[in-house]
Amino acid sequence: MPLPVINPAFPAAEIEEDPLDLMEEIERLKVEKQASILAHFYVDGDLQDIADFTGDSLKLARDATTITSPTIVFCGVHFMGESAKILSPEKRVLMPDLLAGCSLAESCPADKLAAYQAELRAKGHDFQTVAYINTSAAVKSLCDWIVTSGNAREIIDRVPADKEILFVPDQHLGRFLSSVTGRPMILWPGSCMVHEVFSIQDLLRAKRNHPGSVVMAHPECPVNVLEHADVIGGTEKMRKHVASITTPTTFLVATEANMIHPLQKIAPQHTYIPVPGIMASTGETCACNRCPHMARNTLQKVRDCLKFERPEIEWQPYFAQAQEVLRRSLLQ
Ligand code: SF4
Repeated sequence: MPLPVINPAFPAAEIEEDPLDLMEEIERLKVEKQASILAHFYVDGDLQDIADFTGDSLKLARDATTITSPTIVFCGVHFMGESAKILSPEKRVLMPDLLAGCSLAESCPADKLAAYQAELRAKGHDFQTVAYINTSAAVKSLCDWIVTSGNAREIIDRVPADKEILFVPDQHLGRFLSSVTGRPMILWPGSCMVHEVFSIQDLLRAKRNHPGSVVMAHPECPVNVLEHADVIGGTEKMRKHVASITTPTTFLVATEANMIHPLQKIAPQHTYIPVPGIMASTGETCACNRCPHMARNTLQKVRDCLKFERPEIEWQPYFAQAQEVLRRSLLQ
């Protein structure tokens, strides 16, 4: 008789399983446990396909508040699960892998931000702190406003004109927002490891090889990439843009490579090429435009977290302050 495989954390985590079997099991467990699955556009396409809701950070945070099922499984990274819990404290928020972090969120630790805010105040600066949603809940609790790439302009317009703005943690997004809103900003020097790696050479080579192509870039990209973009916007804006064009077009997409999946779904008439993707200098496919944190989400881990009802985002005392800021910024 074969011996059972025992892994104290998750019994089946290291065994390769049939994706179709896993999907069926997830469907069954979802009903049994009264759970809804939320998946960010940067997780693997299989996960997006089994999800009840897909979207960017803003849409998913809002979806989490409208879901009636008592349990949410959040396929994304830690700060997203935290935001869902903060906005829906009565629900149980499970994450396939609690170690799915975010290089951008980690670039701005709460203690360093608090010290910097104190330093600015001591120097006489009168400012409000605007944080990109890619921050920990502890950081959110120190801020006045939370923005996503989808609502940033609208929120920045709500900062009183006589206040300075400290924007954290993404310097590239902050610089872009400062240029489109005309508001000077004190920028925290953070960045995303994925959006930092697109090279201009790869992008220009891709443009030359695909005459007539349209470059779409996420505002987390550095300014030297944005300078070459025809469309700058977050993931929801990219989806809307491709859906609005009927003529088959080639899009060069400068964001996390899994974004190609929802673009293909909503507008299959187009061709999508991830930057740098196949345009890497060697001519080989490059995986550096994949987020290693998002990649921690797998079908097996989704099945396991439904089955074992863990790991879970637990309520923390500082969530209450972050809740006020998140509600004011995203729901009102
Ligand atoms: S793509 Fe960048 S910003 Fe998004 S989760 Fe990954 S590291 Fe964070």
